[in-house]
Amino acid sequence: MELSEINSNLVENKSMKKYDYLIVGAGLFGSVFAHEMTKKGKTCLVIDKRAHKGGNVFCEDVDGINIHKYGAHIFHTNNKKIWDYVNQFTEFNNYINSPISISKGKMYNLPFNMNTFHQLWGVKTPKEAKAIIEEQINTFGSKSPKNLEEQALSLVGKDVYETLIKEYTEKQWGKKAKELPSFIIKRLPVRYTFNNNYFNDKYQGIPVGGYNKIIEGLLKGIKVITEIDFFENKDFLMNKANKLVFTGKIDEFYDYQFGKLEYRSLRFENERLEEDNFQGNAVVNYNDAEVPYTRIIEHKHFEFGSQKHTVITKEYPEEWTSDKEAYYPINNKENQEKYIQYKKCSELETNIIFGGRLAEYKYYDMHQIIASALEKAKKELGGN
Ligand code: UDP
Repeated sequence: MELSEINSNLVENKSMKKYDYLIVGAGLFGSVFAHEMTKKGKTCLVIDKRAHKGGNVFCEDVDGINIHKYGAHIFHTNNKKIWDYVNQFTEFNNYINSPISISKGKMYNLPFNMNTFHQLWGVKTPKEAKAIIEEQINTFGSKSPKNLEEQALSLVGKDVYETLIKEYTEKQWGKKAKELPSFIIKRLPVRYTFNNNYFNDKYQGIPVGGYNKIIEGLLKGIKVITEIDFFENKDFLMNKANKLVFTGKIDEFYDYQFGKLEYRSLRFENERLEEDNFQGNAVVNYNDAEVPYTRIIEHKHFEFGSQKHTVITKEYPEEWTSDKEAYYPINNKENQEKYIQYKKCSELETNIIFGGRLAEYKYYDMHQIIASALEKAKKELGGN
């Protein structure tokens, strides 16, 4: 968008001195922050370089099926406050994420639970499963795991690691499991019950009507301009507000002065099929290294759709370059050290708030982003 166009977009604001906040990024962090500040009488201008609001939770309606355009988003939280917060904007359905994983032609339930252990070894009781896993942990695990591989071997042993983790992880991250931080694998539960729920959280579901409903609710009555590149119009835009809330890449904000942070990108290949049920589940993971995608999402199953058609998305992990979307921060030691330097710069700022996955270089889930935005808004408003 040209400057003149931005200006005419802001014409109704001419009489006003300045917005209280310029919020760069209309994703979850920016939208929640804008909502909270607006509720308290502050004025916000939200901008986004994409043509739509909602950041990575944006959904596109394809004849009644909500397509998660930037990868599957399943809302889950243990925090009642966050659950009530999102439920203000729309109801949630009772979807429970139970992915399937395909490895060397066989299907397994995820997360790692009694169904998986039965499929792997034919065991029927928790005692039998524990005996195998403990024996493997004792042989291959380590007391203080230093990377993802050591962590996985210490949590679930060698068979689960080799069948369901190693190849998926290396394909997903483009790095050896030995070079990745251990916390990534701790996201997945290990349980000795026949329970295929991917999350341990108390509350889970998909917003009825899709995530756009939440974003529309959050940004209701707030000035949002899409298709603006912040960096191309930085001085002009900064001049429009007293404070800046930045949710983009922190290394880009500081001109990569301490070097580039690494991210992992994704490519999505969508297909509309004239059949009603392609894979019988919303998420099917493909563990094998030879399969170039990590998972196939069949979106209608998130909302128990009964349409005659279906839409599937193959998710291909890709190396990140500056022309691509940065989906995942790669929080290994080298990147963390760089990030700390950027963080120190950000802490010296008095008029800039940084938030979200890219600005905090953190593998946040949606509920964590919302919690963090609420906390930062509260602090900004003088609360503790
Ligand atoms: N993972 C795996 N096998 C799977 C699914 C996940 O090894 O079938 C590992 C992988 O390292 C992945 C991590 O667990 O990056 C976190 O998976 P999750 O599904 O939470 O990731 P997201 O949905 O955020 O991509």
